[in-house]
Amino acid sequence: MQFAINISYIAAAILFIFGIKMLGSAATAVKGNRISSLGMLIAVVVTLARSGLGYEWIAAGVLCGAVIGFITAKRVQMTGMPELVALFNGFGGLASLLVGWAEYERIKSVSWSSYLGEDPEIGPWFSAIVIALAILIGGITFTGSIVAYLKLSGKIGGTATVFPGQKAINALVMLGLVAAGVLFSINAEGVNAPTLFLVVVGLSLLIGVLGVIPIGGGDMPVVIALLNSFSGLAAAAAGFVISNTVLVVAGCLVGASGLILTMIMCKAMNRTLGNVLFGGFGAASGSGGQQVEGEMKGVSVEDAYYVLEAAQSVVFVPGYGMAVAQAQHAVKELAEILERNGAEVRHAVHPVAGRMPGHMNVLLAEADVPYEQLCEMDDVNAIMSTVDVAIVIGANDVVNPSAIDDESSPIYGMPIINVHQAKTVFALKRGQGAGFSGLVNTLFFRDNCRMIYGDAKSTVSGLVSQFDD
Ligand code: NDP
Repeated sequence: MQFAINISYIAAAILFIFGIKMLGSAATAVKGNRISSLGMLIAVVVTLARSGLGYEWIAAGVLCGAVIGFITAKRVQMTGMPELVALFNGFGGLASLLVGWAEYERIKSVSWSSYLGEDPEIGPWFSAIVIALAILIGGITFTGSIVAYLKLSGKIGGTATVFPGQKAINALVMLGLVAAGVLFSINAEGVNAPTLFLVVVGLSLLIGVLGVIPIGGGDMPVVIALLNSFSGLAAAAAGFVISNTVLVVAGCLVGASGLILTMIMCKAMNRTLGNVLFGGFGAASGSGGQQVEGEMKGVSVEDAYYVLEAAQSVVFVPGYGMAVAQAQHAVKELAEILERNGAEVRHAVHPVAGRMPGHMNVLLAEADVPYEQLCEMDDVNAIMSTVDVAIVIGANDVVNPSAIDDESSPIYGMPIINVHQAKTVFALKRGQGAGFSGLVNTLFFRDNCRMIYGDAKSTVSGLVSQFDD
């Protein structure tokens, strides 16, 4: 029986790995998703087939989770997905914390000295260490993700909260947490162990809050990716706690892929992880040190049509506003019309555009925009000066030239899509609203930039109708 379980777990792990690999390309992503889901189904069925489980509790849990999950997924707007992902990460962390806690209570009830775990080779000290790790990583992930959720959903301010002595306080709390974790692990049977255990729980939850409040503005994508990685590591620790191989493997895969994503995000913003976590970016707002001269010049849809009609090359740059307006289908329609009109069309996606990793790619894929038309930031920047029209659809921070020409700007050094180098730029937004970082965008004041005010979907549909008439 154990042999069959192990073989099934290995099969599930292989399916996870292939599934994740396939998620790397839009062409194979749907298949990859199905393959990973099949792996998960095998893992769940095999785990539930083990004897001695209380199925009533499991059924009740599955029912509650399914009802809440179904209603939430039905209700969530596309723009609310990042918050939902943050909550998912957080609940993953909480689940790992609870698994660690439950196992601690169980072992306590049979006494640590007689406890040998599922594998007699492994002593109780190992269980104590992995329990402490599951609590530590799970707790940090839970409260950190809740703060990220509150920031992303606007329930609390999205800017960084900094105060004097913050780093020293955080370092002290972290030190206390590690010390309590070590003391608990080396003497889990001791009289002080239950108190130390509660200290580990409390400080983990506290450090999650303290760690995320000083991060704000444009650095939130990195936090989301990092918390995603933490939720995987917490699951892996929980897998060790209950000696479940497939949970360890799946957790490590999430942990590793989340970490790779975190590094990609840091690179996309030209920041180090240390600087993101401890730099306090986003506490200030404004335009940076640069004085903004000139004014934002508006143009009508009718006048923009004449420019587009004559354009030979057009680059669309989607941003968060495209997600708010749900303009992706209209964008696809306009792109097709422009192509039929003889223009070369590209869609340039910035790695941190929108509010979650891959946000714009998901929307463009949903609208069936051909994958070949998607262009990486570096590739499109190389040809930007030859582009006739760049159409910025609800993007702001990712096209802000202050990042390259204003050393005093908080986003100085962050790579951007250089639309300001195109011959003409049309910026589609509703009004004078700032982007996520709260900074003024000097692009909108440039001579080659014209604002087309209004909801992005109505504006793009308006342009489509001009071509149709
Ligand atoms: P921004 O947040 O910089 O700007 C979005 C713009 O869209 C706003 O200026 C707003 O202007 C406009 N807008 C909003 N609604 C509409 C609408 N219905 N129609 C037209 N325009 C609209 O977006 P970007 O994508 O350029 O940049 C993403 C930012 O978010 C970066 O700072 C990034 O670091 C951060 N971030 C990214 C995450 C990720 O994982 N990708 C996660 C968390 C944060 P107006 O109000 O005038 O319409």
